Amino acid sequence: MPGFRPPSGEPFVSEEDLEKGGFVLPGELVGTTEEFKPGSGATVIGGDIYSTATGNVFIDKKSRVVSVKPNTLTPNILKVGDIVYGKITDVRESGAMVEMGGIEGKENRQIVNSRPGDIHVSNVRDSYVKRLSDEFRPFDIVKARVIDVDRMRLTTSEDSLGVVKAYCSNCRGELVLEGKKLKCPVCNMTETRKISTEYGKGIQ
Ligand code: ZN
Repeated sequence: MPGFRPPSGEPFVSEEDLEKGGFVLPGELVGTTEEFKPGSGATVIGGDIYSTATGNVFIDKKSRVVSVKPNTLTPNILKVGDIVYGKITDVRESGAMVEMGGIEGKENRQIVNSRPGDIHVSNVRDSYVKRLSDEFRPFDIVKARVIDVDRMRLTTSEDSLGVVKAYCSNCRGELVLEGKKLKCPVCNMTETRKISTEYGKGIQ
């Protein structure tokens, strides 16, 4: 268990001095003022200390402070198989770079082990890719699946994966799906992409 830095600015407590208690909900009794002082995520009501957060109880054995570390702060750790949303930042011959946005279904939580993703040219679609710039362009929003966490490799070969939002290379207008191509409603230019079947439906 790592050391715990309470969010309220209380001093850092080394892990040797910390005792981890059980999981509690707000309003649960976590101690009495005879034994402890309340820390973050805890409050005193009539001589007893109650949790104000959902999370685990931590007791600083030296200062006798009892705190509740909220579980909602538990970060998202990317793993193989996760579906992610991201923005294309660079398209080279061998692969496209993706700035990671969020994990599907958990968009409101920040990814912690986030590094730029890489869609190798062999992982774009299940057929041969001649030119990667026909599949992705910078600023495209893509939906992709994580296939290698260490090198943050992504694939878009499934039908539902690929570009979900794209902008015109000519005038930056938002492209709309017309048949199997994308068309700019502003300047009428058509472009190709590795288009997701969820193109234009918004981030799910
Ligand atoms: Zn345009």
